[in-house]
Amino acid sequence: MKKLALLVAAALMCASMAACGSSSSSSASGSASASTSGSASASASTSTEATASGEETTGDTLIMGTNAAFPPYEYYENDQIVGIDADIAKALGEKLGKEVTIEDMDFNSLITAVQTGKIDMVLAGMTVTPDREENVNFTDSYATGIQSIIVPEDSEITGPDDLAGHKIGVQESTTGHIYCADDYGEDNVIAYTTGANAVEALKTGKVDAVVIDNEPAKAFVEANEGLKVLDTEYTVEDYAIAVSKENTELLDELNTALAELKEDGTIQSIIDKYITAE
Ligand code: GLN
Repeated sequence: MKKLALLVAAALMCASMAACGSSSSSSASGSASASTSGSASASASTSTEATASGEETTGDTLIMGTNAAFPPYEYYENDQIVGIDADIAKALGEKLGKEVTIEDMDFNSLITAVQTGKIDMVLAGMTVTPDREENVNFTDSYATGIQSIIVPEDSEITGPDDLAGHKIGVQESTTGHIYCADDYGEDNVIAYTTGANAVEALKTGKVDAVVIDNEPAKAFVEANEGLKVLDTEYTVEDYAIAVSKENTELLDELNTALAELKEDGTIQSIIDKYITAE
């Protein structure tokens, strides 16, 4: 985890140099191409060669959309997007005989991007929710996510009940955002473009807690002195791949490939590569 912690620290530094805040105007953009040749490893050769925005999908390329500030699922290693989702996408691409390229964008933009065909699929630690299911189709789940609470080490907040009346930082449009706004009121929630920006706000005292998925929470805490993840789970969720409702063929292909990758242990070995048991 040490290496990951350093990377997260670097990502946080980048995030803090960029315009932080609740505005979604500082949009993350860029793309990296993940080669499907070779093993599904984080070191697979990638380049920053862009897939032109809005370009129609060709038959042998799959464009994955993500928000690459969500370690260990997706984050930058130099100019490459790596992580559990990137590796799973590559393994799926290998099964389907397609090259996978990755588009980095705001989490908030992913559903629209897949609906309009800018990207073919979303792998972004995205939780299956009934609202999202109205707009996109989800594959079978490939991982479990937990919404966790990060606080300063000396915080009086010990669990979800203590969040009432406090300022809570979240990542815009995530389930953490939606649930916290429902449970504690929109006025108590400050939404940031990335989880890294929300953690930065916690460090500088702009918010009292951050609600975010458990694995990124652990990575952020590891990379930042003076913070801790509370033991209590706020919610438990299923991560799945989102595809356009129009593209049922891709949905079926992905589900078949996913089942094979679960069966032969590939998915578990990818998860184990990034998440070490404590
Ligand atoms: N699992 C959360 C959601 O789907 C957060 C995902 C993310 O920030 N990448 O809303």
